[in-house]
Amino acid sequence: MRPLLSVVIPAYNEQEVIGESYRRLDKVCQELGKPYELIFVNDGSRDDTLKLLTGIARKDPRVKVVDFSRNFGHQAAVLAGLEQAGGQATVIIDCDLQDPPELIPEMLKLWEEGYEVVYGQRSERKGESKFKTFTAFAFYRILNWMTSVNIPKDTGDFRLIDEKVVRAMLSLKEKNPFLRGMVSWLGFRQTPIVFERAERFAGETKYPLKKMFKLAGDGIFSFSLMPLRIAYVLGCISLLGALVDLVVLIVRACQGLPLFSQVLYLVLFAAFGLVFLCLGILGQYIGRIYDEAKGRPVYLVRECIQYPEEAKEDEH
Ligand code: UDP
Ligand code: MG
Repeated sequence: MRPLLSVVIPAYNEQEVIGESYRRLDKVCQELGKPYELIFVNDGSRDDTLKLLTGIARKDPRVKVVDFSRNFGHQAAVLAGLEQAGGQATVIIDCDLQDPPELIPEMLKLWEEGYEVVYGQRSERKGESKFKTFTAFAFYRILNWMTSVNIPKDTGDFRLIDEKVVRAMLSLKEKNPFLRGMVSWLGFRQTPIVFERAERFAGETKYPLKKMFKLAGDGIFSFSLMPLRIAYVLGCISLLGALVDLVVLIVRACQGLPLFSQVLYLVLFAAFGLVFLCLGILGQYIGRIYDEAKGRPVYLVRECIQYPEEAKEDEH
């Protein structure tokens, strides 16, 4: 039977939480009394995540496991889950239980009222370092200032999306996907649902600084040309500064004063610093064009695991 609800859960080295995550999600979904499926995406975990997931799938035919050939990252894992989702509505949720599964019935209610995207908005973040809270706070504000697409502040990927939106999303085919931006870009009828972000159930964050920067870069450079405009403005300012300096240089030369410091300023500050900054910004866009041009898939699946109902019955 076609499920009403699909739940997509990316997992990377989550052996400590996967059991509890399944238990809580399954409980919430069962209470709905509607057909559902749970799609776990194993994003190249190096621990026992896959083994545990396979065990769960063996017992529960509603569980599907998509196993990646290696670690492709959180955003890729969510996309792979969406590709598999057959429900009329799909919920994307982290597997560390920071996003409460108990919110799903409320999300479904809003969806039944006609909203096509119900996104979780964090009112509070528990158990996260000051650094993470601050950088996230700053990031969403900078992103909003820079982009013309209105990406709601303090939202993650925890959201319910209608099947129409899933289809539209999969048609975008971006190589460095930033899903929360893409969903905003798509439009549709959207509404927030506010929640308190809990602490991680167990284990550590799978988003080290490097991955956080990559995600932030995808958000900014895939949704805004503002950095290029900033580079242009900085270039103009430095050119102006250099011209003023040139005038000073000429005047001093006429007066027979020493010129060394002015020349140094001109060359070091105005030229080198800005040229490198602007090259870096250009590089960000060129790198992304390069990724698009290569056209490699965003992820590779080793296998999709799902056991049919009969398999379960055979075991007993
Ligand atoms: N995750 C993933 N691939 C990665 C990193 C993370 O699938 O390369 C998953 C992870 O298992 C979790 C979700 O993405 O379900 C969010 O990661 P995490 O909770 O570590 O991020 P944080 O909440 O600390 O920002
Ligand atoms: Mg988390």
